[in-house]
Amino acid sequence: MTTQLSRDHWEKVLAEVRLEGRHFIDGAFRPSLSGETFTRIRPMDGKPGGTLARGNAADIDAAVSAARAAFDAGTWRHKEPGEKKRIMLAWAELIRAHGEELAMLETIDVGKPVMASLNVDVRLCADGIQYYGEMIDKMYDEIAPTGPKARALVRKVPLGVIGAITPWNYPLIIDAWKLGPAIAAGNSVVLKPAEQSSLSALRLAALAVEAGLPAGVLNVVTGYGQDTGRPLALHMDVDMIAFTGSTEVGKLIMGYAAQSNVKRVALELGGKSPLVVFDDADLDAAASAVAWGCFYNSGETCHASTRLLVQRSVQDRLIEKIRDVADREIALKHPLDPTAQIGALIEEAHMHKVLSMIADGEQQGARRAFGAERVLSETGGYYVSPGVFVDVSNDMRIARQEIFGPVLAAIPFDTEEEALAIANDTIYGLAGAVFTKDMDRAHRFSEALHAGTVWINTYDMSSFATPFGGFKQSGFGRDRSVHAIDKYCDYKTIWQQFG
Ligand code: NAD
Repeated sequence: MTTQLSRDHWEKVLAEVRLEGRHFIDGAFRPSLSGETFTRIRPMDGKPGGTLARGNAADIDAAVSAARAAFDAGTWRHKEPGEKKRIMLAWAELIRAHGEELAMLETIDVGKPVMASLNVDVRLCADGIQYYGEMIDKMYDEIAPTGPKARALVRKVPLGVIGAITPWNYPLIIDAWKLGPAIAAGNSVVLKPAEQSSLSALRLAALAVEAGLPAGVLNVVTGYGQDTGRPLALHMDVDMIAFTGSTEVGKLIMGYAAQSNVKRVALELGGKSPLVVFDDADLDAAASAVAWGCFYNSGETCHASTRLLVQRSVQDRLIEKIRDVADREIALKHPLDPTAQIGALIEEAHMHKVLSMIADGEQQGARRAFGAERVLSETGGYYVSPGVFVDVSNDMRIARQEIFGPVLAAIPFDTEEEALAIANDTIYGLAGAVFTKDMDRAHRFSEALHAGTVWINTYDMSSFATPFGGFKQSGFGRDRSVHAIDKYCDYKTIWQQFG
């Protein structure tokens, strides 16, 4: 999927793509029980991007009932493992076959370049479903060492009904991170995508049924967090919530679980990840990692390298190189332009939030080295250029709060101890990186960083084989890797006495 398709081609796909606006419940598209809808505005040009069903607690009830009925009937979990694997692999293939359509839906909703949607988001979504599909016939249960007079089977069993609540920045990828392991483990799912980005989730669910997933195993209810996410997380018949989103809402989810049925919770939350550059580092490699790590997806990435900690003596040189990479490589253009590397921000209100954080940084005394301005406003869309603040101190709001825009805060340091203290001085612990040629220091530093993922002399390398998630208020539980399956399962011990 690396072909470069023309702008004309994508304009045609945009004109023809179907924007499904109903929930997907029990294997079919259905309007909201209330009949209510809401309109999504396209971030690429501010035009309407489709009308969606506005769900509420009644729609959540209907979806949870369908999910429970499918689970109880065993239409999915009791299938032969080989058959389940075949269905999930067929689903992954359908995602690939419908790649251009899914990429366009993602771009309509999120405003990211359609070539990135195709080559990154659709690809990783299909790969994720395939990864977990392939695991299905390779998972074994255990027999505990209880001696010859008895046998204790330790079975790994699905939990039941999983509620998945996902954000808008990488909808296809994050949906696959939840759906892959939850469904491979034998559960049923009710997915509540972000209100800004529901189109790809609805299509994914329909493709799953086309691949052979029984009705009711995967349901999608669209709508706002308060109206749909909240009743899902408070539901007495939901066994777990797998949530990705802000730390603020993650805390609410824990509360809902406690107030209802003590359902399990897995939380992938925010970040303010430090990328630390020592004066002996390869500055070209560091500049490239910082620029792509912070500006890719217009900075709307939970593990974006938003805090650059740079040894004072190389600060100016490094900032110049970052500017160079941003100018030369990270083309901000209309998302249908196949040469665009980054596109629009998710919505107008978010753009204004990003711009106000930028103004706040200046007010607090940080110096804008370049960029961080509204651009392409003539398109009607919501674009902010990559930008860097220097002379930032770690107590400024631009260093402490997620901006979720293409804005880097550069903080100078003098010693390794100081760098480590600043890097760990955050409520978050999602990711971090260290750039140095001194491997002893690289390992010492990466062990001491409080983060779920640490990169040495690189940024944002990832693989389905590696767990992803955070320490501290970046949440708990891991997506990706074979370990992700565990959180969608329970252990059940079955004793048998002999003789
Ligand atoms: P958000 O927390 O506002 O929304 C996430 C989801 O929660 C949406 O589906 C939303 O509708 C729903 N929601 C909102 N209020 C709710 C409520 N009261 N009850 C139940 N559900 C509710 O986050 P967002 O703005 O969509 O996404 C950006 C955030 O997600 C950032 O903080 C980012 O760091 C984080 N994120 C984390 C990861 C990760 O893997 N750690 C990945 C991507 C995004």
